[in-house]
Amino acid sequence: MFGDIVSIMHPMAASDQGRYAFAEARLRDLQGRDLYRSLRRVEGPQGSRVWLDNREVLVFCSNNYLGLANHPAVKEAALDALNRFGCGAGASRLISGNMTLHERLEQRLAAFKGYPAALLFNSGYAANVGILSSLMEAGDVIFSDALNHASIIDGCRLSRAAVRIYRHRDTDHLEGLLKDAHGFRRRLIVTDSLFSMDGDLAPLPALVGLARRYGCLLMVDEAHALGVIGANGRGAAEWYGVEREIDLSMGTLGKALGSFGAFVACSPPLREYLINHSRSLIFSTALPPPVLAAAEAALEIVEKEPERRAHLMGLARHFQERLSQVVLRYGYMPPVTSPPDPATPIQRLILGGDRMAMEFCELLLERGIYAQGIRPPTVPPGTARIRFSLMATHTSEDVGQALHAIEETWEGIARQESGA
Ligand code: PMP
Repeated sequence: MFGDIVSIMHPMAASDQGRYAFAEARLRDLQGRDLYRSLRRVEGPQGSRVWLDNREVLVFCSNNYLGLANHPAVKEAALDALNRFGCGAGASRLISGNMTLHERLEQRLAAFKGYPAALLFNSGYAANVGILSSLMEAGDVIFSDALNHASIIDGCRLSRAAVRIYRHRDTDHLEGLLKDAHGFRRRLIVTDSLFSMDGDLAPLPALVGLARRYGCLLMVDEAHALGVIGANGRGAAEWYGVEREIDLSMGTLGKALGSFGAFVACSPPLREYLINHSRSLIFSTALPPPVLAAAEAALEIVEKEPERRAHLMGLARHFQERLSQVVLRYGYMPPVTSPPDPATPIQRLILGGDRMAMEFCELLLERGIYAQGIRPPTVPPGTARIRFSLMATHTSEDVGQALHAIEETWEGIARQESGA
């Protein structure tokens, strides 16, 4: 199937035939294992409803949690910056790309997070890879949650430090690993705060205690929690009341803040260290002005409109309750671990099989609900799932429609399986 699409779009010269056989063989293998991935195209702007393949669907798979990606004030700020500062930064921060907008946004982010300093990165991926690979070196050790984001995993690998993986949220396991790790120079614990594929929170107070007891730096990735979790949207550390205790608090600008990029809030010496050592910052063109201005405008909305968060959390609680009931009712499916506590905007329906997850996703789409099936390697084998993410711009009716579609889909599958 993909072979046809590829050759229609890119007619190959006769001499190229066979050159890419390795890629085609690999793609066929992925197809055979239900792990093939392809792109879907959204027409028009991002919102809680989008046009997908010529029909309007309700979106339940975007990280645009507060609905700010297409917010008038955010767009206005981006347009104004475009007119005043142009399209691009022209070079990396250390060459000629460091503009007033970069420094202003860093100051705003640091103040928002309650840290003395912040440093921008070009994406969350670039931040995690750049921070971990520069702070930690051969002879050091990193302790990483088993379900941490791929960018953390890649940062750990690039650092050449020893890596100890602890079972997801299992602080007893982590403590055992900490006790056993002798002879290393620097130690660092790293975790997602709101896990992107499960919607549960890292046990930050216990991690803070272990980091202090065992002399570790603590790095927390608040990508999905920023703007969403905590009374002021400062993240899971705010929710737990441990904000002062985290050495490096990373956040992204492309999710709840509706723009693009990332930052780390930290102490001034760590900021200077990263400016001097972090290769993803040093060797990459700085973020463009419209993106910076959009993020700044979005941050203001995060601060001034807590009602967006309150509405989102209300939807999350309702969705979680109803989803748990559906799971109980049709509980013949592979085991589903207990839902996260507290309810967060990320909810998942674990289905187990990879094909099942993709079929479920297609059936939901037929009912006008766009939620992605998630398969390995994004999640561990045997835990394929539908990941739902809620948005502040969803209404209760939107959520009701999604839950109804989930129920109908599951009922349909159950009927089919029982031969009724
Ligand atoms: N950390 C986590 C936990 C994420 O989920 C993601 C993106 N999905 C990133 C980092 C990377 O952020 P970005 O998309 O800005 O590269």
